[in-house]
Amino acid sequence: MHRPAWVEIDLNALSHNVSAIKKMVGPQVKIMGIVKADAYGHGDYEVSRVLLNHGVEMLGIAILEEGIQLRNKGIEAPLFLLGGIFEDQIDAVIQYNLIPAVYDLKLAEALSKRAHYYNRVINAHVYVDTGMGSIGVKYDGAVEFIRSLQAMKNLFIGGIYTHCSCSDEKESVFTNLQIKRFKDVLAALGAIMADIPLKHMANSGAIIGHPDAYFTMVRPGLSLYGLYPSEEVSRNIGIRPVMSFKTRVIHIKDMKPGDVVGYSGTYRVTKPTRVATLPFGYDDGYNRLLSSKGKVIIRGTQASIIGRVCMDQCFVDVTNIKGVSVGDEVVVYGSQGQETISIESVAKQLNTIPYEVTCAVSKRVPRIYINHEEK
Ligand SMILES: *Cc1c(COP(=O)(O)O)cnc(C)c1O
Repeated sequence: MHRPAWVEIDLNALSHNVSAIKKMVGPQVKIMGIVKADAYGHGDYEVSRVLLNHGVEMLGIAILEEGIQLRNKGIEAPLFLLGGIFEDQIDAVIQYNLIPAVYDLKLAEALSKRAHYYNRVINAHVYVDTGMGSIGVKYDGAVEFIRSLQAMKNLFIGGIYTHCSCSDEKESVFTNLQIKRFKDVLAALGAIMADIPLKHMANSGAIIGHPDAYFTMVRPGLSLYGLYPSEEVSRNIGIRPVMSFKTRVIHIKDMKPGDVVGYSGTYRVTKPTRVATLPFGYDDGYNRLLSSKGKVIIRGTQASIIGRVCMDQCFVDVTNIKGVSVGDEVVVYGSQGQETISIESVAKQLNTIPYEVTCAVSKRVPRIYINHEEK
């Protein structure tokens, strides 16, 4: 039996979302599925398997260690390392056959040199910074940079890409400027461009709102997991949430006016109140800012978190819900009956983004995979 505070990962919703994104971008456009940060908290290996079985060509990870982990679990597909690397990580990049980003001449030279030492040609994608301001060679120096790379015999430029910083905004003018800058770089490359197989730019926000940003491959992350990056983008791709967070009532107690609940006694009972204790807390990634603010669903009805969220427990007022018993299933994120608590709505309460809510679910919460496909 797994711990009675868990997340369910709906693999059927995940494969549905891949299809929805494919439908949106069209059959000519390849997909790099972004599985960094343990697939946004959903579990990198299980998610990667489903994505690869549904025609995703390449996987994107943020750090070297994530690539090593996936290789050790047996994933053989192309793995693209989105984050930067240090020179002392180059040997591991080659050993684990990861595709690095190049954005710096010294790093590119070191890559080519080490690849030569191993008698290999290393496939790398040039990262053009069109306005993100992170790693990436600035767009106005990109053509010159790529020309210099051409002299490096053990480096193959398998792709060129950029990243949107504002695609979660409504009709983002800045995204249009980034698209223009990227297109200008591609045009200025002239004949070189034909030799670079992959050109990519679009994250979920751009997939939803900027078809001009599709090029030959797109890089969805959040939308694979069935969530929209912000309230401003249109909800137009028919994706379904993949993660639900559930637990069970562990204790029920009747309290009288004057009683207090939780640390610091911040919640004072003013009328006869039935309080259920739930066995999860902020160590599970349920933010303490949801104290006296969050909601859960019990017996198809929403109930409010009262008092402070503890490390391992929290409390809900179930006075108005008939028949609540120890062992009842509780939905923290997700749906039960007619009610839904969306991850987006929790993000909004926390004044953050849905990405942070799923990434925050800690490793002590078991991931239970449901709706496996029949093979
Ligand atoms: C994380 C990331 C993505 C995916 O972004 P979503 O908004 O989750 O779709 C795409 N590209 C790069 C470079 C990233 O770092």
